[in-house]
Amino acid sequence: MQEISNTSAAELKIKTEAFKQLCRTRGLRVTEQRLEIFRTVARSKAHPSVETVCAEVRKKMPNISLDTVYRTLASLEEAGVVFRVGNCSKARFDADLTPHYHFVCMNCAEVYDIPAGGNTPSIPDNIEEFGEVKNVNLQFRGICNRCRKAAGKMQ
Ligand SMILES: [Zn+2]
Ligand SMILES: [Zn+2]
Repeated sequence: MQEISNTSAAELKIKTEAFKQLCRTRGLRVTEQRLEIFRTVARSKAHPSVETVCAEVRKKMPNISLDTVYRTLASLEEAGVVFRVGNCSKARFDADLTPHYHFVCMNCAEVYDIPAGGNTPSIPDNIEEFGEVKNVNLQFRGICNRCRKAAGKMQ
């Protein structure tokens, strides 16, 4: 099983620059708070929840409230710089805008990244009747190998 690694410093720097650029084009002011919250999501490859992001940001901004983190994430989501994955009951956030899919474990709620590879899943022919597709957020749900192993279903 692949361990969830974290984003390298160089990668994070590129992402932060791209974030600032994107904020400017979307008319979102780059505040210290937004930047810190974005960097926290971008730094982790574990698709952190609001609570996890909040706990991490508090190390630098001890007075920030969970509500502020929640609202900031919502505005970043609206601006299209982060998006939500995972179970509907518990939002997890992702700042990786490169095409990839997710495997969400229905048992432990872990969110795994799956590289999109060459072949995109078939998009219905009549999709344009509904609108223009900007991105595909494909999620596979099931039981992850770590849980299957723990349950003795795998060697
Ligand atoms: Zn699992
Ligand atoms: Zn992801």
